[in-house]
Amino acid sequence: MDWRTLEQWDKEYFWHPFTQMKVYREEENLIFERGEGVYLYDVKGRKFIDAISSLWCNVHGHNHPKLNQALIDQLKKVAHTTTLGSSNVPAILLAKRLVEISPKCLTKVFYSEDGAEAVEIAIKLAYQYWRNKGERRKTFITLSEAYHGDTLGAVSLGGIDLFHGTYKDILFETIKLPSPYIFCKKNYGGLSEDCKNVLLEILEEILKSRDDIVAVSLEAGIQGAAGMLPFPKGFLRGVRELTKKYGVLMIVDEVATGFGRTGTMFYCEQEDVCADFMCLGKGITGGYLPLAATLTTEEVFNAFLGEFGEMKHFYHGHTYTGNNLACAVALANLEVFEEEKTLERLQPKIEYLSQRLKEFWELDFVGDVRQLGFMAGIELVKDKEKGIPFPYGERTGFKVAYKCREKGVFLRPLGDVMVLMPPLVVEREHIDQVVGALKWAIESLKT
Ligand SMILES: *Cc1c(COP(=O)(O)O)cnc(C)c1O
Repeated sequence: MDWRTLEQWDKEYFWHPFTQMKVYREEENLIFERGEGVYLYDVKGRKFIDAISSLWCNVHGHNHPKLNQALIDQLKKVAHTTTLGSSNVPAILLAKRLVEISPKCLTKVFYSEDGAEAVEIAIKLAYQYWRNKGERRKTFITLSEAYHGDTLGAVSLGGIDLFHGTYKDILFETIKLPSPYIFCKKNYGGLSEDCKNVLLEILEEILKSRDDIVAVSLEAGIQGAAGMLPFPKGFLRGVRELTKKYGVLMIVDEVATGFGRTGTMFYCEQEDVCADFMCLGKGITGGYLPLAATLTTEEVFNAFLGEFGEMKHFYHGHTYTGNNLACAVALANLEVFEEEKTLERLQPKIEYLSQRLKEFWELDFVGDVRQLGFMAGIELVKDKEKGIPFPYGERTGFKVAYKCREKGVFLRPLGDVMVLMPPLVVEREHIDQVVGALKWAIESLKT
């Protein structure tokens, strides 16, 4: 198939996610054809570093021999069998592995296909947990600027007005705490201990005064989709302590942060947190296939046990829940972590990335630089002194990302926040290429 025809058909038939199709159809777009390690190749034969891990999910690089082989081996057996009331080999093995590597209180695994579903399941499980225990509770506490995916339950927990405001009338209500990064920057000039304590006091006041709280939900350590907004250190830990003290559940969304992204397998490890629900997605298959999981505790699981007629069980499932191929490649993904010592090798690279990120502060149009492990955001502003953003319609972030393509770097920004989130296997030379391209592209805004 020649690329001109593909381009034409892409614009004619394919409605793309999070994309203004009028604009998309007027532009030249990338159509990827193959990948190798940290590189992607398009149908025109051009080569790009995948600097966003194909939307934050690729871990060990593309076209990895071990992950490919795991799929081939499973494919020769069977591609899919249902797990509604029956089971399959890779799904069992993976559930055991996930329990082994996750924080200690988590002992049960409920599968789904996307991060949003993993959150949706946590919402429903938490809600039904209280009902099964004979209590009617319906209020969730969430954070402003939260992002948990695009299905309606996950959107209800979300707090990004641009994505979520439109649907307000058909969402359930939540109590929203301020976004820690924005709150701390505005009132304390940064992520201080004092600010963390004030945020926790606000939460405690709410928990004290209400007896209808189902759960507190939040992302782990950083609000990704909001533009890479890290929490003060210890905030997650503080939320865990308060939710325990007041007897409410805690949902931690590790969809973006899980599988090594912040330097440890899960961010929760860094603050010694074990939430009642941990949502996983994105990197779980190394970026190969759609798979997600909601991990929970013995306590929650037990609340759903009963005789069939008691109707305490969880009436939820999807056609492809626990898909054989996805679970097989997820198992191989975890093996590669060990074989290639991915996390050990990541530490110096995280430090190298921080060092290089500092250079962005010198640029005229850079207003902020944020990082947690291998997640980084560089915020572009029109006026650095006054902190005035570029007008939304100008799509400055996209312009900079398109410019980077000229230097062989593939990026997708979040508004005017340039996201750097390369596969964990990138080497220094790749970081150099990405940083170099991005600095050059930002500088070119001057002309
Ligand atoms: C991407 C993301 C989701 C949604 O995952 P999908 O697989 O896109 O549905 C949920 N939570 C966080 C923190 C995410 O980054």
